[in-house]
Amino acid sequence: MTYQNYSLKQLQQIDAAHHLHPFTDHKELREIGSRIITRADGPFIYDSEGTEILDGMAGLWCVNVGYGRNELADAAYRQMKELPYYNSFFKCSTPTPVLLSRRLAEIAPKGVSQVFYGSSGSEANDTALRLVRHYWALMGKPEKNRIISRKNAYHGSTVAGTSLGGMDAMHKQLGGAVPNIVHVMMPYAYELALPGESDHDFGLRAAKAVEDAIVEAGQENVAAFIGEPIMGAGGVKIPPASYWPEVQRICRKYDVLLMLDEVITGYGRTGEWFAADYYGIQPDTITTAKALTSGYQPLSALLVGERVAATLVEKGGEFYHGYTYSGHPVACAVALANLDIIAREGLVERVKTDTGPYFAKALQERIAGHDLVGEVRSVGLMGAIEIVKDKATKERFLPAGSAAVTVRDHAIANNMMLRATGDTMILSPPLIWTRDTIDMACERIAKALDLAKNDLRKA
Ligand SMILES: *Cc1c(COP(=O)(O)O)cnc(C)c1O
Repeated sequence: MTYQNYSLKQLQQIDAAHHLHPFTDHKELREIGSRIITRADGPFIYDSEGTEILDGMAGLWCVNVGYGRNELADAAYRQMKELPYYNSFFKCSTPTPVLLSRRLAEIAPKGVSQVFYGSSGSEANDTALRLVRHYWALMGKPEKNRIISRKNAYHGSTVAGTSLGGMDAMHKQLGGAVPNIVHVMMPYAYELALPGESDHDFGLRAAKAVEDAIVEAGQENVAAFIGEPIMGAGGVKIPPASYWPEVQRICRKYDVLLMLDEVITGYGRTGEWFAADYYGIQPDTITTAKALTSGYQPLSALLVGERVAATLVEKGGEFYHGYTYSGHPVACAVALANLDIIAREGLVERVKTDTGPYFAKALQERIAGHDLVGEVRSVGLMGAIEIVKDKATKERFLPAGSAAVTVRDHAIANNMMLRATGDTMILSPPLIWTRDTIDMACERIAKALDLAKNDLRKA
């Protein structure tokens, strides 16, 4: 590759001429030009000018072991030389998906021991949707096919992912969602709790919305409930402790499958291998991707509970679904090496006992008090900062979302990469962050908040 022969301007021009980006206003992008990241190491990314930026988002929620891991590159290189590709259709298999499946069964929550592979979270959710409907058809209840999801959920961007998700803007452009998916309220206490309502009671009320939807549709028509244990792209919305156990109780009561989308929360982010363990629940399917390879290769794994998997085996008949790259040998080799690193370095335990609690304390002590901040919250190394105009009334700046973008732009200018969704700043750093890295991040964010405050008060 010889991109070094191109100037930043040239790369931006070629990018603008030929490259359509995901989730982008292309008119706006062409006026500004894209930021071009050329290399990365540890917790830092570097742009084409050589600027060192602390990556508070682990790429896009995925680079849990940090950048520059030769071990992962070596695993890919070795596998590519030995067997770069073979499919797992037609009763074939290759060694790395076989071994990865056993490995995933070992770390998965109790009762979850089978794996279906894809190359992205969206694909895995497509698989999950079809699988739960197929399950009920095998059980002789094909009409039990409705899925309950939540407003503002993010389950990917394919047609199935968008349909399962609850993002209005995405639905508007979809021109017709997959039928029989309904969306109920999200467990977002900061905006939706009633005056005087405790977190506990709010969590139960948000869970009751799931029950109401089941009762309204008739339990004989409802296949499953799907949710991110902690809503990610929707703004790191952390449910009250009462929510998930109650949702699980409701699902069991009405014989509705529980599907968790752990594409972000899987593989250590919460301080447990899976958020199902963090919340103490036993889902029927778990969608995972992102940190499964720390983003070094595209790979997703739908983890399937014994109830559904056993039925596939018992009833037999072909499940007409799969991808060319299901169980890709190179991606699976990288995943195995990645899980080795996470385990060997004790990253999950470290998030649970050291960096997670330190991160929570740092956000509380150094960010929460700022005039622009309505609330900070975090679980493990996943956090959110609510940007408000008035701390007491929770009034937001107008237009909606603009203030968070101002904060984000100052943060990036201060070499701190984080994300703005709506009026919420989001952090989801690599699990290799230390206390020092957390200190550095808080310093840069606090400075960005100060600079943004000046701008916003002037406007
Ligand atoms: C990112 C994400 C997806 C989609 O994954 P892709 O690999 O982008 O298709 C699905 N669900 C959640 C919770 C995600 O964060």
